[in-house]
Amino acid sequence: MDSIREPARDIPVVEDVDVLVLGGGCTGVFAALRAARLGAKVAIVEQNNAFGGTAANGFVCIWHELTDTTYKKQIISGLTEEVLDRLGRVPNGLRQRIAPEGSPFRAPYYSRYHLNTEELKIELDSMILDAGITPYLHTKYAAPFIRDGRLEAVVIENRSGRSAIRAKFFVDATADGFLGADCGMETYYHDAHFQPATTGARVWGWNQLQDPNTVLRSEENRLRIGGRAGWELPMTGAEEISTWCKSQFVGDCSDAKVLTRAEISGRAQVREMMNILRETDTHGKELSLVALSSIIGIRETRQLKCTYQLKTDDVCYGRAFDDAIGYCAYPVDVHVPQIPTTFRYLDGTEQHGLPGGGVEWVRWRTDEGPYPTYWQIPYRCMLPGKIDNLLICGRAIDTEKGAFGAARVMISLNQTGEAAGVACYEALSSGRTVQSIDIAALRRRMKDGGSIIL
Ligand SMILES: Cc1cc2nc3c(=O)[nH]c(=O)nc-3n(C[C@H](O)[C@H](O)[C@H](O)COP(=O)(O)OP(=O)(O)OC[C@H]3O[C@@H](n4cnc5c(N)ncnc54)[C@H](O)[C@@H]3O)c2cc1C
Repeated sequence: MDSIREPARDIPVVEDVDVLVLGGGCTGVFAALRAARLGAKVAIVEQNNAFGGTAANGFVCIWHELTDTTYKKQIISGLTEEVLDRLGRVPNGLRQRIAPEGSPFRAPYYSRYHLNTEELKIELDSMILDAGITPYLHTKYAAPFIRDGRLEAVVIENRSGRSAIRAKFFVDATADGFLGADCGMETYYHDAHFQPATTGARVWGWNQLQDPNTVLRSEENRLRIGGRAGWELPMTGAEEISTWCKSQFVGDCSDAKVLTRAEISGRAQVREMMNILRETDTHGKELSLVALSSIIGIRETRQLKCTYQLKTDDVCYGRAFDDAIGYCAYPVDVHVPQIPTTFRYLDGTEQHGLPGGGVEWVRWRTDEGPYPTYWQIPYRCMLPGKIDNLLICGRAIDTEKGAFGAARVMISLNQTGEAAGVACYEALSSGRTVQSIDIAALRRRMKDGGSIIL
């Protein structure tokens, strides 16, 4: 590749903190909050204009159940529950859907909490400011500064130019593992079948249409989408506006050119879907595009190799870990275009979407059990092998493909953020590395700060 040499120059160190979090999705914000509430000096860097990442800026507004598969035992609390409580107190900030007894929707697939994404942005702002965290919006992490083999600072770029933030500990919450990869961590892809990226849209008039999903499904070839045609939800407090997550783009969106194509293609697909509905439904002409998500929602890119890879069987058989920092009951859920979506549940059943609609149930386990009611996230799958002041949280953690299908939802990833923040504080206060912290102390501190630790 052709290249030019950038001249070396001095840049100002604009911040010197205990913990620096890169990426302000919910996992990053939760890492920052937990470290700051324990007393660490924290900064957080986000490239967009608001915190909340895919949940807020990508319109992915669904958080699943906080219980195990019995619906009776709560297994998730911490900042996930705190944010839900806060949104619940904001007018039209939160909508809950409770699965009726005997409902064909099975726990915990049920999409329980629907967040108002705009109110979420405002709540996260207040939580960050209340905790005394220094926020940087419209600020992009650009490069690590490594001296004598140690990660000492990172270079950022924003309206004020290029500068550096020095920190004792770093959290990579960029979802694509940018800092980890730049520091030499091994990256890998599950396989060529990426789960697709999806552009969020808000559309007025959807609820007046006859059977729009059947229409869109029958046009999958024209739309170049497959599997299931995504989902839509009424917007919290504005039921006539529907939030769509329906378009599909397959590719490695950690690459700049691919991401550009994905954004343009996602928007064009939304237009195409609206055109199809306008042509086929008597009320179609009344459809109006209210908003497009400010970023495309990315389900999967690359992972970072950590000290342990969470296996699909660890999830499906509910393996217990002595360093568990989080719990979840969400099933293995792998969306691959052209292949109907599969859900693998902990009770031994598996649900296959059928081409053209409908579902088929099979069993993936035929033994008598016992069947787990939740699965566990170990600290070691977010822990780099060598870099002793860096932790990974969010969807770049080390997972096998099926395990990723379960771990990628926000109720589980939020907990990796909280663990990263507490672990940084634990290392800071004990003078240890992130590898050598006392795991029992980490778990105790997480529990003291509101997490459920079983
Ligand atoms: C269409 C779709 C539907 C989904 N449906 C659901 C669902 O129903 N329920 C569910 O729980 N999950 C769902 N998911 C999955 C879930 O939304 C994601 O896995 C999760 O939000 C990822 O969280 P994260 O914190 O790792 O990443 P993100 O939320 O993407 O946060 C990463 C942040 O890092 C920032 N960043 C990246 N690089 C830089 C940089 N260089 N400098 C500064 N900032 C940077 C980004 O701007 C972003 O804000 C869905 C995902 C998609 C795409």
